[in-house]
Amino acid sequence: MTATKPANTTSQSILNQSVQYLKGVGPKRSEIFEKLGIHTIRDMLYYFPREYKDLTKIQKISEAKIGTEISVQGKVLGINTRISRNRKHILEVFVGDETGAVAATWFNQPFLISKFHVGDNIYLHGKVGVYKYLQLLSPEYEIVPDEEVKKEGSIVPIYPLTEHISQTHFRKIMKEAVHHFTDHIEELLPQEILVKNQLLLLNRAIREIHFPETFDTLKRAKTRLVYDELLILEIAMALRRSGIKEEMGISFKVGPNVDAHIRNLIPFTLTNAQERLINEIKKDMQNNKPMNRLLQGDVGSGKTVVAIYAILAAIANGYQATFMAPTEILSEQHFQTIQKYLQHSHVRMQLLTGSTNSKYKKDALEQIRNGQIDLVIGTHALIEETVQFKKLGLVVIDEQHKFGVIQRLKLKEKGYCPDVLIMTATPIPRTLSLTLFGDLDISILDEMPPGRTPIKTFWIPKDKEKEAYNFIHGEIAKGGQVFIVYPLVEESKALDLKSAVTEARKLQSDVFPTLKIGLLHGQMKSAEKDKIMTNFKEKRYDILVSTVILEVGIDVPNATVMVIEHAERFGLAQLHQLRGRIGRGSEQSYCLLFGNPKTNEARERLRIMTKTCDGFKIAEMDFKLRGPGEFFGTRQHGLPELRISDLIKDFPILKQARSDAFGIVSKDPRLTLETHQKIRQKVMETFKDKLELISIG
Ligand code: ADP
Ligand code: MG
Repeated sequence: MTATKPANTTSQSILNQSVQYLKGVGPKRSEIFEKLGIHTIRDMLYYFPREYKDLTKIQKISEAKIGTEISVQGKVLGINTRISRNRKHILEVFVGDETGAVAATWFNQPFLISKFHVGDNIYLHGKVGVYKYLQLLSPEYEIVPDEEVKKEGSIVPIYPLTEHISQTHFRKIMKEAVHHFTDHIEELLPQEILVKNQLLLLNRAIREIHFPETFDTLKRAKTRLVYDELLILEIAMALRRSGIKEEMGISFKVGPNVDAHIRNLIPFTLTNAQERLINEIKKDMQNNKPMNRLLQGDVGSGKTVVAIYAILAAIANGYQATFMAPTEILSEQHFQTIQKYLQHSHVRMQLLTGSTNSKYKKDALEQIRNGQIDLVIGTHALIEETVQFKKLGLVVIDEQHKFGVIQRLKLKEKGYCPDVLIMTATPIPRTLSLTLFGDLDISILDEMPPGRTPIKTFWIPKDKEKEAYNFIHGEIAKGGQVFIVYPLVEESKALDLKSAVTEARKLQSDVFPTLKIGLLHGQMKSAEKDKIMTNFKEKRYDILVSTVILEVGIDVPNATVMVIEHAERFGLAQLHQLRGRIGRGSEQSYCLLFGNPKTNEARERLRIMTKTCDGFKIAEMDFKLRGPGEFFGTRQHGLPELRISDLIKDFPILKQARSDAFGIVSKDPRLTLETHQKIRQKVMETFKDKLELISIG
């Protein structure tokens, strides 16, 4: 192996060589590296430590204070095992430095003995206790090779590894790689960005992230690498957005006549927020660039009329519109709601879902193709190739995060650069809206329609259930109605049905013998569900027991109590959605969370629910509890895996990277400038299987 560049070999190709070129990695060991996702030398250099061992804080054994934690380094002086009076196996490894000795002690782990040998150098970190002598109880330990002992005072990387390779060995190979190859890493960023943001050079950052000189340089190295990762992501967003901005779209005409006509169909006064959003959308639609807007609004904030405004504006201009929702119930619900609004208009509507009767569907498709239908509402069945429009001008998508970017594009392609309006009831934390939806303009509906009283939420532990049931009796006596929701038994539909039926029966016989209870479960056909819901709306039931997630569908102003059984099994977003089913009338409403959470996280979820009704706050906390990967399937959004960035902690860097990325792309929309070539290359690599999402020419 050599550190000098052979003639005619670029740094690129050197870094793309197999890890087998590294000393200590033969064909056999390279299999282990493959498993870690390390194929090339570049992969190796970009395989970052998961944490660091702080040897700068090594203390003398004589400084050990009972009850505090300490890190020491010394030699193994002796090894002893014994059985305690209460028959525990005790392993003691005596370690000494030049100031004293301490016993590292483990209980009932006899197998550990093979790890230690008298004379070994050893690092220990643990809590100081005392027996007949000083002890460290079950400390962290590491056998330190002789050549590393001299490195006292250093920060040692710890890598995420499998058991087939030791930290020491991996570190040695990494040292080799860093030593010989970091100089081949070419700088990604233009000079001005480096200077402006005071970033470390890339090769320096790579060196420091593996073998930091100080904690301060380590921090700067992390900042640099996080910046790179987020910059590439935001460049992709910026390219996508500038690609859209370059398209020629439709200039809809929305004059006073059209406006008045639409407003005539809306039976209430719009909120200020609705007015503001309608204005933003109107501007987008009038503009000849395609609209690409995300409308965020909490459950019940009144998104539907905003969408209807856009739909009617498009139709008034002689175009067709389509409205896609993630489930059949949701599409049916939208269809019915919109039909009601439009009953005095001439708009021709069509519902299209997976269960639309096939013979009927053929006719419908024909009518959509020849323009006899103005508005098509449906599920992802709308994406199918058989669905062709005569003149599609507007695409509305509800609950965007359930679909993802690719589906959005597919639907969009059915028209000629139609306007796109995306709606979501799950408020998206700002960090995510800047990444997942970074290519969209964002509008937020942050005002509830008037006349709502905030819902009171209580957590009901097991011993308070009786009181809660009494309270429910009282609410019903006052004329209210109650939802009781059980978690869906996902594993088995049959089981789900059984649990719903048994629970409803139990409630009827044991708790509410005099009340009328309706039952809604996942096995019902949608006509059946509709019937039950209608009956509930018309007060033929006092209580509706349900295992179906009532995310949507029911708008029953008279329902004042939402009971969620086993609330600990629901995610925050779901709990918030469910709670959104009540509080729709003027009466005080109550959400009762039954449950005995076992984990801290579950307890935290319930606590948050009782503290706030603000969907955005809940979303932020949900995101913090679960992390971005879990929050939404990040994959389907075309978001590459983030290796080093933490979207929450690194939010300030994200903002900077975003602003720089949009700056770069506005100056150089195709990344053709010489100074942007490395960035361009990196974007291509990062998004290699999703290039259709980016307009990079
Ligand atoms: P979202 O889709 O945002 O959850 P909806 O559009 O379904 O909310 O609206 C929730 C309820 O509020 C509906 O019953 C709707 O008729 C009503 N609503 C919407 N906007 C207003 C308003 N400005 N004034 C009074 N009621 C409204
Ligand atoms: Mg809605």
